[in-house]
This record gives sequence, C-alpha cells and structure tokens, in this order.
Amino acid sequence: MPSVKFKYKDEACVYPKLINAVNVLCIAKGKDCFCTSGYRSIDKQKTIAKEVLASNPGSWQREDGFVYSKKGECLAAAYGKSNHCYCIAMDISDSWFKELMNEELIKDGLIKPISYEPWHVQLLEHNGLSLSQKEAIRDSVLKGEKKDMTIKEFQAVTGLTVDGIVGPKTKEKAREMVQICQKILGNYFESAEETVRVTQKNPEIWLKKLKTEEYFPDFVMNIVERMKGERP
Ligand SMILES: [Zn+2]
Repeated sequence: MPSVKFKYKDEACVYPKLINAVNVLCIAKGKDCFCTSGYRSIDKQKTIAKEVLASNPGSWQREDGFVYSKKGECLAAAYGKSNHCYCIAMDISDSWFKELMNEELIKDGLIKPISYEPWHVQLLEHNGLSLSQKEAIRDSVLKGEKKDMTIKEFQAVTGLTVDGIVGPKTKEKAREMVQICQKILGNYFESAEETVRVTQKNPEIWLKKLKTEEYFPDFVMNIVERMKGERP
C-alpha cells in the first residue's frame, strides 16, 4: 500500500493523525511519498542550522537560532519555534505532493500553512494552537514513542507513593495489573480445561489426561496462578 516513508528515523515521532492523513492521501493518489523532515529535537535543529550555514556562503545565525542568507532571507527558524519541534509538521519533498493545493488537502484535514513552502504540511485542526497546547502535543507524542515504563511511572499511574522502590504495595499493585492485562489479552484462564483448550496444539490428548491423572489439573492451574502473580 502506498505510504509515507521517513528519511530520518529520528524524525518519525510525528502526531499519528498527521501521518495517517498523509497515508490516506498516498493511497488515494496511488503514490508513496518521502518525508524529508518530521519531528526536530533541539539537537537536530542545531545540526540542521550548521548544515545550512555551511552550504550557504555568506549566511549567518542569530543567537536564538535563526539562520539568514546574505540577502536576508530566512533559511532556518529559531530553535524551538518551528512546528517541527512540536511533532505537528511534515516536509514532503515529492513533486506530486508539492503541486497539491490547499483546496484539495483540506478534504483530508490537511493544510499547507506557509505559501512559499509547498512541501510543509500540517493538520488543519492544528491551526492556531497556543504554545502550551503545542508542548502538550509534543510531550504526548514523544511519550507514546517510549514503549517501556519505569517503576516510578508505574507507581504514579497507579496512585502509589512514587519512590521507585519495589515494596509489598508495589508488588501487590503489579499483581492486580497483571490480572487486568491478562483479561485484556485473553490469557485469564479459569480452569485447567480452558487452559489446555487454548494453549495446546492437540488439546484432546491432554484433556483425557486431565481426567485420568489425579494431580494434572492442579499442576496446570498452579502454573496459571503463578503467572497471574497471585502467589508470592
Ligand atoms: Zn517544514
């Protein structure tokens, strides 16, 4: 299926709805596209500014990060000012994309807000966001990229004292959470028979054994209970 590809992996942290909208457009057009710039961290912006300065003789940089050409044209935005820093903008270099007009883009909830940057696209719904709204969007997108959770974060979301120490209360909460997760994932087995039916390739063999081997049902359920984290 046609879709957008990111030139730089470290710039792929973009608001998912924006990526989706661009993908919808790719599918409608039957063409892939190439995102040459998505999310820019401050470090990434500094790297880009250096490259712009090096490749434009006579260009100069202001203290806040703005880079200007010899003629005074703006070549790079101030640090932290571009919407790329808030995960809400994408630059798409393909010529078919650059030719698209706002009248057409708006149908897919997209907009090119800068008339002289036909590669720069955003979601229509992100027009006119305040700085604090942009920061909240950026934080949520970056947080979503991080797949792991620290003990302190676990304690915070479950209403425990946030000390990072795995004590009895944190363990107890983890046991509760594991059961909920297993219910969500469909691994919450109530009986040995159910466990065997769901987990074994040839359940019939084992279902017979459940009836004939006296300790076998307990053996199965001991494993299930242990995985639920109910027993210390
Ligand atoms: Zn841009």
